[in-house]
Amino acid sequence: MSDCLFCAIVAGDIPADIVHRDDDAVAFRDIDPQAPVHILVIPTSHHANATELAAADPAAAGGLLALAGSIAESEGIADSGYRIVTNTGEGAGQSVHHVHFHLLGGRDLQWPPG
Ligand code: AMP
Repeated sequence: MSDCLFCAIVAGDIPADIVHRDDDAVAFRDIDPQAPVHILVIPTSHHANATELAAADPAAAGGLLALAGSIAESEGIADSGYRIVTNTGEGAGQSVHHVHFHLLGGRDLQWPPG
């Protein structure tokens, strides 16, 4: 989508601190990190949120979760624990309407989240 921030990152039109890229997915460090490790995992194709992605392409949704897990390993937070979060809708805090999984770790994480 032409006006989508994360599509622009996928295209390379906006710089990002990319930790993984393949044909299906890109992962990059959040510009406003909420934990020592805060990485966004997104599909290269545009879907507004996780539910829409799962309906359109369930394998891609599962692939993103698997990728988040492998990045947790490579970032050294797999053993200490991490959280994968996807906000859906403005009331839940979604500010970018291109589905993204937040991978958070490297500190103790509170439950329930705010
Ligand atoms: P959400 O509020 O759940 O939609 O998450 C969007 C996330 O994108 C926020 O955590 C932002 O800090 C992050 N973000 C916004 N712009 C950029 C950018 N240019 N590069 C990296 N992360 C960004």
